Amino acid sequence: MSGYRIFEDLHTHTYYSHGKGSPRENVLAAIGRGLEKVAVSEHGPGHFSFGVRGKKLEKLNAELAALKDEFAGRIEVLRGLELNVMDFGKSDCPENRGDYDVIILGYHKSVPPFNKHALSIWGESLLGIKNDPHRNAEGILAAAYSCRANIISHPGLYLKVDIPYMAECCRQMGILMEVNSARVTMSCEELKTVARLGCGLIIGSDAHTPQRVGDFELASAAVTEAGVWSSVVNAKRE
Ligand SMILES: [Zn+2]
Ligand SMILES: [Zn+2]
Repeated sequence: MSGYRIFEDLHTHTYYSHGKGSPRENVLAAIGRGLEKVAVSEHGPGHFSFGVRGKKLEKLNAELAALKDEFAGRIEVLRGLELNVMDFGKSDCPENRGDYDVIILGYHKSVPPFNKHALSIWGESLLGIKNDPHRNAEGILAAAYSCRANIISHPGLYLKVDIPYMAECCRQMGILMEVNSARVTMSCEELKTVARLGCGLIIGSDAHTPQRVGDFELASAAVTEAGVWSSVVNAKRE
Protein backbone atom coordinates (compact mmCIF):
# COMPACT_ATOMS: atom_id res chain seq x y z
CA MET A 1 0.00 0.00 0.00
CA SER A 2 1.04 3.54 -0.67
CA GLY A 3 0.23 4.87 2.78
CA TYR A 4 -1.86 7.60 1.15
CA ARG A 5 -5.62 7.94 0.98
CA ILE A 6 -7.36 9.89 -1.78
CA PHE A 7 -10.21 11.88 -0.29
CA GLU A 8 -11.96 13.42 -3.29
CA ASP A 9 -12.87 12.67 -6.88
CA LEU A 10 -13.38 15.80 -8.93
CA HIS A 11 -13.65 14.13 -12.32
CA THR A 12 -16.83 12.11 -12.88
CA HIS A 13 -19.38 11.88 -15.69
CA THR A 14 -23.04 10.81 -15.83
CA TYR A 15 -25.79 10.04 -18.32
CA TYR A 16 -26.06 13.75 -19.01
CA SER A 17 -23.18 13.15 -21.44
CA HIS A 18 -22.16 9.65 -22.48
CA GLY A 19 -21.79 8.15 -19.00
CA LYS A 20 -24.11 5.52 -17.55
CA GLY A 21 -25.28 6.66 -14.10
CA SER A 22 -27.11 9.61 -12.59
CA PRO A 23 -25.47 12.39 -10.56
CA ARG A 24 -27.16 10.92 -7.48
CA GLU A 25 -25.65 7.50 -8.17
CA ASN A 26 -22.20 9.08 -8.45
CA VAL A 27 -22.69 10.78 -5.09
CA LEU A 28 -23.82 7.55 -3.43
CA ALA A 29 -20.89 5.69 -4.97
CA ALA A 30 -18.49 8.33 -3.63
CA ILE A 31 -19.97 7.95 -0.14
CA GLY A 32 -19.56 4.19 -0.48
CA ARG A 33 -15.88 4.73 -1.26
CA GLY A 34 -15.46 6.91 1.81
CA LEU A 35 -14.74 10.11 -0.13
CA GLU A 36 -15.17 13.55 1.43
CA LYS A 37 -15.91 15.41 -1.82
CA VAL A 38 -17.20 14.52 -5.26
CA ALA A 39 -17.74 16.65 -8.34
CA VAL A 40 -19.86 15.93 -11.35
CA SER A 41 -17.79 17.51 -14.10
CA GLU A 42 -19.59 16.88 -17.35
CA HIS A 43 -18.24 17.50 -20.81
CA GLY A 44 -18.46 21.16 -21.71
CA PRO A 45 -20.91 22.53 -24.27
CA GLY A 46 -18.36 22.64 -27.10
CA HIS A 47 -17.96 18.88 -27.40
CA PHE A 48 -19.77 17.92 -30.60
CA SER A 49 -21.29 14.63 -29.40
CA PHE A 50 -21.04 14.56 -25.58
CA GLY A 51 -21.23 18.23 -24.67
CA VAL A 52 -23.87 19.22 -22.11
CA ARG A 53 -25.40 22.56 -22.97
CA GLY A 54 -28.46 24.78 -22.77
CA LYS A 55 -31.48 23.52 -20.83
CA LYS A 56 -29.82 20.18 -20.15
CA LEU A 57 -26.89 21.90 -18.43
CA GLU A 58 -29.28 24.03 -16.40
CA LYS A 59 -31.15 20.89 -15.30
CA LEU A 60 -27.90 19.19 -14.31
CA ASN A 61 -26.80 22.21 -12.29
CA ALA A 62 -30.16 22.38 -10.49
CA GLU A 63 -29.85 18.68 -9.70
CA LEU A 64 -26.33 19.20 -8.31
CA ALA A 65 -27.51 22.10 -6.15
CA ALA A 66 -30.25 19.86 -4.71
CA LEU A 67 -27.77 17.02 -4.08
CA LYS A 68 -25.38 19.44 -2.39
CA ASP A 69 -28.12 20.32 0.12
CA GLU A 70 -29.43 16.81 0.53
CA PHE A 71 -26.02 15.29 1.28
CA ALA A 72 -24.58 18.18 3.31
CA GLY A 73 -22.72 16.75 6.29
CA ARG A 74 -22.16 13.40 4.58
CA ILE A 75 -20.21 14.46 1.51
CA GLU A 76 -19.51 17.73 -0.26
CA VAL A 77 -21.04 17.75 -3.75
CA LEU A 78 -19.31 20.08 -6.19
CA ARG A 79 -20.52 21.55 -9.42
CA GLY A 80 -17.88 20.97 -12.06
CA LEU A 81 -17.42 21.02 -15.80
CA GLU A 82 -14.77 19.50 -18.06
CA LEU A 83 -14.26 22.11 -20.73
CA ASN A 84 -12.80 21.52 -24.17
CA VAL A 85 -9.88 23.25 -25.82
CA MET A 86 -11.65 24.72 -28.86
CA ASP A 87 -8.89 26.68 -30.52
CA PHE A 88 -5.50 28.09 -29.62
CA GLY A 89 -6.12 29.79 -26.26
CA LYS A 90 -9.87 29.18 -26.40
CA SER A 91 -12.28 26.95 -24.55
CA ASP A 92 -16.04 26.49 -24.35
CA CYS A 93 -16.13 28.26 -21.01
CA PRO A 94 -19.67 29.33 -20.02
CA GLU A 95 -20.37 32.97 -19.20
CA ASN A 96 -21.23 32.01 -15.62
CA ARG A 97 -17.79 30.51 -14.97
CA GLY A 98 -17.94 31.83 -11.42
CA ASP A 99 -20.91 29.58 -10.57
CA TYR A 100 -18.75 26.46 -10.91
CA ASP A 101 -16.78 24.99 -8.02
CA VAL A 102 -14.26 23.25 -10.23
CA ILE A 103 -13.27 23.75 -13.85
CA ILE A 104 -11.31 21.06 -15.64
CA LEU A 105 -9.92 21.70 -19.11
CA GLY A 106 -8.97 18.96 -21.52
CA TYR A 107 -8.12 18.42 -25.13
CA HIS A 108 -10.64 16.05 -26.71
CA LYS A 109 -11.47 14.66 -30.08
CA SER A 110 -14.76 15.72 -31.70
CA VAL A 111 -13.93 19.38 -31.32
CA PRO A 112 -12.44 21.28 -34.23
CA PRO A 113 -8.64 20.94 -34.30
CA PHE A 114 -7.48 24.15 -32.74
CA ASN A 115 -4.74 24.94 -35.17
CA LYS A 116 -2.73 23.18 -37.79
CA HIS A 117 -0.30 21.95 -35.13
CA ALA A 118 -3.13 20.34 -33.19
CA LEU A 119 -4.18 17.94 -35.90
CA SER A 120 -2.15 15.56 -33.84
CA ILE A 121 -2.47 11.90 -34.60
CA TRP A 122 -4.43 12.33 -37.82
CA GLY A 123 -2.39 15.27 -38.97
CA GLU A 124 0.92 13.58 -38.44
CA SER A 125 -0.04 10.30 -39.95
CA LEU A 126 -2.43 11.33 -42.71
CA LEU A 127 -1.47 14.83 -43.66
CA GLY A 128 2.21 14.85 -42.88
CA ILE A 129 1.80 17.91 -40.64
CA LYS A 130 4.56 18.40 -38.10
CA ASN A 131 3.14 18.30 -34.62
CA ASP A 132 4.69 20.74 -32.17
CA PRO A 133 4.28 19.68 -28.52
CA HIS A 134 5.51 23.04 -27.22
CA ARG A 135 3.03 25.00 -29.33
CA ASN A 136 0.26 22.58 -28.33
CA ALA A 137 1.06 23.19 -24.67
CA GLU A 138 0.99 26.95 -25.26
CA GLY A 139 -2.47 26.72 -26.84
CA ILE A 140 -3.87 24.65 -23.98
CA LEU A 141 -2.25 26.80 -21.31
CA ALA A 142 -3.58 30.00 -22.85
CA ALA A 143 -7.07 28.45 -22.83
CA ALA A 144 -6.59 27.32 -19.22
CA TYR A 145 -5.55 30.83 -18.22
CA SER A 146 -8.54 32.47 -19.87
CA CYS A 147 -11.13 30.11 -18.34
CA ARG A 148 -9.35 30.08 -14.97
CA ALA A 149 -9.10 26.30 -15.06
CA ASN A 150 -8.33 24.48 -11.83
CA ILE A 151 -7.16 21.28 -13.49
CA ILE A 152 -5.82 20.16 -16.87
CA SER A 153 -7.21 16.69 -17.50
CA HIS A 154 -5.23 13.82 -19.02
CA PRO A 155 -2.28 15.91 -20.26
CA GLY A 156 -0.93 14.51 -23.50
CA LEU A 157 -4.02 12.50 -24.43
CA TYR A 158 -4.78 12.75 -28.19
CA LEU A 159 -2.25 15.54 -28.50
CA LYS A 160 1.41 15.57 -27.59
CA VAL A 161 2.37 18.35 -25.23
CA ASP A 162 5.61 19.61 -23.76
CA ILE A 163 5.07 18.29 -20.24
CA PRO A 164 7.95 20.11 -18.46
CA TYR A 165 6.85 23.43 -19.96
CA MET A 166 3.22 22.75 -19.07
CA ALA A 167 4.21 21.84 -15.50
CA GLU A 168 6.26 25.02 -15.06
CA CYS A 169 3.40 27.22 -16.34
CA CYS A 170 0.78 25.33 -14.32
CA ARG A 171 2.85 25.79 -11.18
CA GLN A 172 2.98 29.53 -11.82
CA MET A 173 -0.77 29.72 -12.49
CA GLY A 174 -1.76 27.40 -9.66
CA ILE A 175 -3.30 24.86 -12.04
CA LEU A 176 -3.13 21.15 -11.22
CA MET A 177 -2.15 18.47 -13.71
CA GLU A 178 -4.30 15.37 -13.57
CA VAL A 179 -3.15 11.81 -13.18
CA ASN A 180 -6.14 10.27 -14.92
CA SER A 181 -7.09 6.90 -13.53
CA ALA A 182 -9.03 5.77 -16.61
CA ARG A 183 -5.80 6.03 -18.61
CA VAL A 184 -2.56 7.34 -17.23
CA THR A 185 -1.26 9.73 -19.86
CA MET A 186 2.04 10.78 -18.32
CA SER A 187 5.04 8.48 -18.18
CA CYS A 188 6.90 7.71 -14.99
CA GLU A 189 9.65 10.13 -16.02
CA GLU A 190 7.11 12.84 -16.83
CA LEU A 191 5.41 12.43 -13.45
CA LYS A 192 8.77 12.78 -11.72
CA THR A 193 9.51 15.91 -13.76
CA VAL A 194 6.14 17.51 -12.94
CA ALA A 195 6.72 16.86 -9.24
CA ARG A 196 10.31 18.09 -9.36
CA LEU A 197 9.15 21.35 -10.96
CA GLY A 198 6.78 21.90 -8.03
CA CYS A 199 3.51 21.54 -9.95
CA GLY A 200 0.61 19.97 -8.05
CA LEU A 201 -0.89 16.71 -9.26
CA ILE A 202 -4.48 15.59 -8.75
CA ILE A 203 -5.83 12.09 -9.25
CA GLY A 204 -9.21 11.81 -10.96
CA SER A 205 -11.18 8.70 -11.82
CA ASP A 206 -12.76 10.09 -15.02
CA ALA A 207 -15.57 7.68 -14.15
CA HIS A 208 -18.27 7.22 -16.75
CA THR A 209 -20.18 4.76 -14.51
CA PRO A 210 -21.00 5.01 -10.79
CA GLN A 211 -18.97 1.84 -10.24
CA ARG A 212 -15.82 3.68 -11.29
CA VAL A 213 -16.33 6.74 -9.05
CA GLY A 214 -13.38 6.75 -6.65
CA ASP A 215 -11.51 4.10 -8.63
CA PHE A 216 -7.96 5.38 -8.42
CA GLU A 217 -6.15 2.14 -8.99
CA LEU A 218 -4.25 2.89 -12.21
CA ALA A 219 -3.28 6.41 -11.18
CA SER A 220 -2.20 5.25 -7.72
CA ALA A 221 0.06 2.61 -9.23
CA ALA A 222 1.68 5.20 -11.51
CA VAL A 223 2.15 7.68 -8.65
CA THR A 224 3.67 4.96 -6.47
CA GLU A 225 6.03 3.90 -9.24
CA ALA A 226 7.15 7.50 -9.79
CA GLY A 227 7.39 8.14 -6.03
CA VAL A 228 5.45 11.42 -6.26
CA TRP A 229 2.69 11.00 -3.67
CA SER A 230 3.75 14.14 -1.83
CA SER A 231 2.77 16.18 -4.93
CA VAL A 232 -0.75 14.74 -5.10
CA VAL A 233 -3.02 17.37 -3.60
CA ASN A 234 -6.04 15.14 -3.07
CA ALA A 235 -4.17 12.47 -1.10
CA LYS A 236 -3.54 12.40 2.63
CA ARG A 237 -0.99 10.32 4.43
CA GLU A 238 -2.82 7.64 6.38
ZN1 LIG B 1 -11.55 14.27 -20.84
ZN1 LIG C 1 -13.62 13.27 -18.40
